[in-house]
Amino acid sequence: MSEFKTIIEPFRIKAVEAVKFTHREEREAALREAGYNVFRLHAEDVLVDLLTDSGTGAMSAAQWGALMQGDESYAGSRSYYRFRDVVNDLTGFRHVIPTHQGRAAERILFHSVLEAGQVVPNNNHFDTTRANVEVEKAEARDLVIVEGRVPSRVHPFKGNMDLEALEHALESDGDRIPLVMVTVTNNTGGGQPVSLENLRGIRRLCDRYRKPFFLDACRFAENSWFIKVREEGQGARSPREIAREMFSLADGCTMSAKKDGLANIGGFLALNDDAWAERCRNLLILTEGFPTYGGLAGYDLEAVARGLEEVLEEPYLRYRIRSIEYLHERLVGAGVPVLQPAGGHAVYLDARALLPHIPPLEYPGIALADALYVEAGIRGVEIGTVMFGLHPDGTERPADMDLVRLAIPRRVYTQSHIDYVAEAVIAVAALKDDLRGYRITKAPPVLRHFTALFEPRGA
Ligand SMILES: *Cc1c(COP(=O)(O)O)cnc(C)c1O
Repeated sequence: MSEFKTIIEPFRIKAVEAVKFTHREEREAALREAGYNVFRLHAEDVLVDLLTDSGTGAMSAAQWGALMQGDESYAGSRSYYRFRDVVNDLTGFRHVIPTHQGRAAERILFHSVLEAGQVVPNNNHFDTTRANVEVEKAEARDLVIVEGRVPSRVHPFKGNMDLEALEHALESDGDRIPLVMVTVTNNTGGGQPVSLENLRGIRRLCDRYRKPFFLDACRFAENSWFIKVREEGQGARSPREIAREMFSLADGCTMSAKKDGLANIGGFLALNDDAWAERCRNLLILTEGFPTYGGLAGYDLEAVARGLEEVLEEPYLRYRIRSIEYLHERLVGAGVPVLQPAGGHAVYLDARALLPHIPPLEYPGIALADALYVEAGIRGVEIGTVMFGLHPDGTERPADMDLVRLAIPRRVYTQSHIDYVAEAVIAVAALKDDLRGYRITKAPPVLRHFTALFEPRGA
């Protein structure tokens, strides 16, 4: 079947969910009501929801079937052992600690091993990862390669860590670094992959400076696919083999099963160190639950176990990565500024480049995200100065980039949905001169993007 070029969705549809069509005036009213923050919209009022790929995917018939197999025993449930075996087989890590989602794994890890004044290097910290480091009064230090900071630069592994910068950090601040972390794929930097070569280099440095190395593994399968198709000598290996090697280079990982677990909820922390695992389990019991369920139902553990197997199937990964690339190609073809190259789970519009008349502190990403909703009912999310511009000392500075992320839920939308999105983004980009900035009228001190209220400037 390889003589045809069209890459089709590697599934057929068994159940459908209607979407609601709204008029422009209804969307304007809904957005005003939401304080111009798309996080505050009712999801029903969104036509194509690209807010996040987290927990929004469609489960397979096999996963729905597995739910029925869930063992809801409080302790030692069969579903836990099935989950543990799948995670252990994939990652090789000795201790597998289920959590209700990724940020719980982060909080438990960092609260157990971080002290005030310490430093965690990462390629780029994701928003919750950064917040969970900073809440311990530690520093979240981003060390992505220089190419990774410039939206228009093309690099096959733009998520790579700058090994020189890491070595310098280990040399000068080594006694304050309890672990090194790397995010695969690098969500904040555009869903960009990290090469095996780079992971091996990080491992060597961690060995030399005797530091544990953790993966933020939310999109490990997408990262494996990029390694397969882009890294020399990797083309003949299966995504599973590559994923196993990625994990084998690390000492542990945090994981959100809402991404490459293909589940609607779930996550885990997995690690080799016995003493750290014991500390983490003790904290888990305090807030998440007994170590064999960690805040999840038995049926959730079943769905994640099955999802972790399906996500490494080649037809799935080929379609997944291609569908993002397809949207990216259409936008590039129409001259819309986007982060280059296409990421693994999302297309990132470069709001700062599209809207040079809106300064970063007037939030060009919010202006673009809001316009996409009003014009077309599409919900994306600002990844920029609102999300990352407020610092623990209370000062506000422009983030490295002002992007709007269009994250594609897994196995949910068809090609015609994506064609609609492309047409709508191109139409909104043509309205750019009419878009104006926003000011924040109310916001909490941390993770402000989720709940901040805005008002349009000059309105
Ligand atoms: C989603 C995500 C997390 C947090 O996971 P949740 O399940 O949303 O708590 C952490 N890191 C990265 C890179 C993510 O994409």
